[in-house]
Amino acid sequence: MTKQQRLDQIAADIRDQNICPDLAKDALSLVMGDGDVDADIVFIGEAPGKKEDEQGIPFIGAAGKFLNVMLEAASMQRSDVYITNIVKYRPPNNRDPRPDEKQAFLPFLIRQLEVIQPKVVITLGRHSMEYFLPGLKIGDIHGQPQVVQLGDNEITVIPLYHPAAALYNGSLRQTLIDDFLTVPTLIRNSHF
Ligand code: URA
Repeated sequence: MTKQQRLDQIAADIRDQNICPDLAKDALSLVMGDGDVDADIVFIGEAPGKKEDEQGIPFIGAAGKFLNVMLEAASMQRSDVYITNIVKYRPPNNRDPRPDEKQAFLPFLIRQLEVIQPKVVITLGRHSMEYFLPGLKIGDIHGQPQVVQLGDNEITVIPLYHPAAALYNGSLRQTLIDDFLTVPTLIRNSHF
């Protein structure tokens, strides 16, 4: 099976196993991911919003536009990375995903990472950070790479603030931009 076929199988399993039926019944799309399935870098956000639900693609609304601007500023192409979320259906009214929803989708996120095999995971916001760096606070470690064991592989996790949280908050916005601009150097200096 190709990587894409394996990723398609993960989506089929989410549907077959009726994961988070309460979210699924109101969602227009199962939003799995976007980008290069061979990427070295995977970004993980929280959950799809309205635009993402409508189009089935993660990070295409306001937060996604901000993410695109930062990627470009850091000389990264969206098509060279892979972008996904921990929760794959839109929560109603864009509320925070609940712990049970994150838990339900976690095995599928892990399977996505097993297929893609990234060297670096960039978490956007605390919801995706919590899984890789339990007990740590984003305010203490944002922008600081952490080495984490994922299955048989060591990966570098770079925790960043969520673009939606930073978008309308001046100081957080600048912090996120500053962190983002260091990402290419952090990745170059990581030992793989
Ligand atoms: N926020 C997220 O966390 N993910 C998206 O896909 C869009 C907005």
